[in-house]
Amino acid sequence: MDRLVHLDLKGAPPQITYLEKVVPLVASWGATGLLVEYEDTFPYWEPLEGVQSSSSYSKKDVQSLLQIASGCQLIVIPLIQTFGHLEFVLKHNQWSYLREVERFPSEVCPSCDDTIPLLETMITQILTLHPDSPYLHIGCDEVWEMGHCSNCKKTEMKREELFLRHVTRLAHCIKTIQPKIVPIIWDDMIRTTDPQLLKESGLSECVEIMVWSYGETLNFPPGMWERYGKTFGKIWVGTAWKGASGVDALLPNVNMHIHNHEAWMQLLQSETAFSSFTFQGLALTGWSRYDHYAVLCELLPVGLPSLALCLGTLQQGSFSEWLHSSVSRSLGFREVIPLDPLPRHVIVEDLNQEESFPGSEIYLAVLHLAGVHHRTLELKATMVFRGWFHDYNVQRKFINPRHVELILHQLTELNESLEKTRKSLGESLKQYVKAEAEWMGCNVEPLSRELSCLLSSARELVLGPPAPST
Ligand SMILES: [Zn+2]
Repeated sequence: MDRLVHLDLKGAPPQITYLEKVVPLVASWGATGLLVEYEDTFPYWEPLEGVQSSSSYSKKDVQSLLQIASGCQLIVIPLIQTFGHLEFVLKHNQWSYLREVERFPSEVCPSCDDTIPLLETMITQILTLHPDSPYLHIGCDEVWEMGHCSNCKKTEMKREELFLRHVTRLAHCIKTIQPKIVPIIWDDMIRTTDPQLLKESGLSECVEIMVWSYGETLNFPPGMWERYGKTFGKIWVGTAWKGASGVDALLPNVNMHIHNHEAWMQLLQSETAFSSFTFQGLALTGWSRYDHYAVLCELLPVGLPSLALCLGTLQQGSFSEWLHSSVSRSLGFREVIPLDPLPRHVIVEDLNQEESFPGSEIYLAVLHLAGVHHRTLELKATMVFRGWFHDYNVQRKFINPRHVELILHQLTELNESLEKTRKSLGESLKQYVKAEAEWMGCNVEPLSRELSCLLSSARELVLGPPAPST
């Protein structure tokens, strides 16, 4: 059974020097492969050069990643979207005419003559740099807009038919480029599709499906497994170890991710549901952002303890206190890895940095930052803040210094704590990921501006206006 760790490079792509340290660790935790989602970080070349973002990898970087993985006996499966979630291509003027809906950049029109040649070029380039991959994941999830444009309407096909026609065309195109490659798709667009329609389309003969669910409980439409059982011989499943518990989450909800893996293991062990399939393996997804236009969620270094626990849960068959403490010890935690998503009140230096995991200083700094965010919200919810420091009163200087002094004291402490965190993050983040400015701009700067503004109001009210600068 393969255990693929998903590297979502479309947000905060890790430096190759960081992956050199992380990939062997992930292999030692029980991974057997990597599912690498490049999006706009792949080093596309002509005629697709414009697709690359400023934080894309070079061809040499991709080769280095493959070498690192191969040195750890990990297979690498590239993932490239080919239907929905094509914002990274369709946002560019050069390709925007291929959108299904002119004003939305996500879905490509499956009926336009130029669509398949464009996707074929993308796939050829990806496969050229991954000559040994046995599979290619072609995405195809969340294709919300279908059948709107005049080309698609002319076909008089239903949404399901348009979807199946596009995916089977792509699968045949991949076979022509590289006959040994097996395409994989996310399954969510066909969960309620009639098995007869699936069979007639030929889809089941040319792709394997990856059934995903990331919550603590797994919810699927009634009869889905029976329908899949009549259609597909081989299936994969998709779990999550980060990036599935909040679009702007700083820290993963480790409890939720462990329960997600336990729920999948229980389902996979229930013979009735899975007796008709060959179960190929799992992809443990670790999302960096929900889509191209979303903000970043948890950073890779911050998610590593969750990944270690999820892989451990799969290896052991269940989560236990023993697993929790042994994984925690191996990652250098003095206590156990916190499973609670909410930051703790008292931040303690709970990692032995000397024996810890690569990027642990980022993990600690983000834990501190989450604490500052949390304590700021708590301060704003207090009776003193709501009752005696309202913006209306502050603007009119209608305040009692006795109350504002208390608030000033707490704001000063929060601001100092934030500045300390900003300093340590600013120094170390660049070593690990390429999106330091975006992450700081979303997670540190707005809070810093808010605290500075509140602090200067409180200071002025208690101590009087600052002396004029000369
Ligand atoms: Zn169309």
